[in-house]
Amino acid sequence: MSSLPEPLAACVDIGGTKTLIGLINPEGRVLARDRFPAANHLAPPEQVAQLVEKFHALANGAEVAWERVAGVGYSTAGFLNSERTLVFASPNQGNWRDAPFKALLEEAFHLPAYLEMDANAAALGEAWFGAGRGSQHFVYLIVGTGIGSGIVVNGEVLHGWRGTAGEIGHTTIEPDGPLCNCGNYGCLESLAAGPAIAQRARAAIQQGRKTLITELAEASELSAETVFRAARLQDEVACAILDKEIDYLGIGIANVITLLNPQMVALGGGVAVGGADLLLPPLRRAVRRRCGAWIDLEHTEITLSRLGDEAGLIGAGRLVWQEIQRGTVANFSQYNVK
Ligand SMILES: [Zn+2]
Repeated sequence: MSSLPEPLAACVDIGGTKTLIGLINPEGRVLARDRFPAANHLAPPEQVAQLVEKFHALANGAEVAWERVAGVGYSTAGFLNSERTLVFASPNQGNWRDAPFKALLEEAFHLPAYLEMDANAAALGEAWFGAGRGSQHFVYLIVGTGIGSGIVVNGEVLHGWRGTAGEIGHTTIEPDGPLCNCGNYGCLESLAAGPAIAQRARAAIQQGRKTLITELAEASELSAETVFRAARLQDEVACAILDKEIDYLGIGIANVITLLNPQMVALGGGVAVGGADLLLPPLRRAVRRRCGAWIDLEHTEITLSRLGDEAGLIGAGRLVWQEIQRGTVANFSQYNVK
């Protein structure tokens, strides 16, 4: 039994449009939270100063003594350098170059700070406290307007040599496939993210195919969700587009399972969550068809994320607790984190 009060992690998840902050305990519970528009127009030092202010207000409101905060976990939509100290580029967030967020956070908070890229943080959150609770070998795939992913191996994010590991969305699935945002052709993202589904529907309509998607798209913009709605009404064109989606995602997931042997692959993001009823059962069958007989698929789960948009925030908390477990956080080295 420690004589110290239960420590807390001050966690941040900054995206392109919104910021989530929270005080998270060693069991992964968010004791207090706040969300506000991301201040990506501010220079990094001003953005950090705003975070200090927001956190002190949050702690005061929740009547939490600030001394209990052991460290800062920071999930960013930007790209981190391999040491995870600098945001070296952030096309979706302020367009910063070499912004030294680790140093800025540590100076402003007088606490150690740990940084991670958003999909990795979300994977860590889901593996720790969400769908994969307790999984040591876990893959998180976010299928939305793009395909993001994070891989957890032995309980830790797989970073690779220079920190760029885990980009499942940019593995080639079709050599002659469409141009991807990354410049390659036929990446999983270019074939299976939301825009690819909508594009297939538009192409079918342009070819004069008769489909409910045409009417449904009159009321709202044509998106993956429109295709899902038509597929639920047994529309033939929509069902064929869905089959294509299951094919591509199935290949991507089977490749990952073959390569990494995870306990669980969890799917998040607007497309996967919005179409889960249609996608998940056939996706499991598609993965089975693509995986070798030596793989234990009976005990490999393919499921949905549990934490929704708090996965990154909770993963940021995990970053802090992992360091406390390693005994590297001064003043909290005696605290026993499970
Ligand atoms: Zn790509």
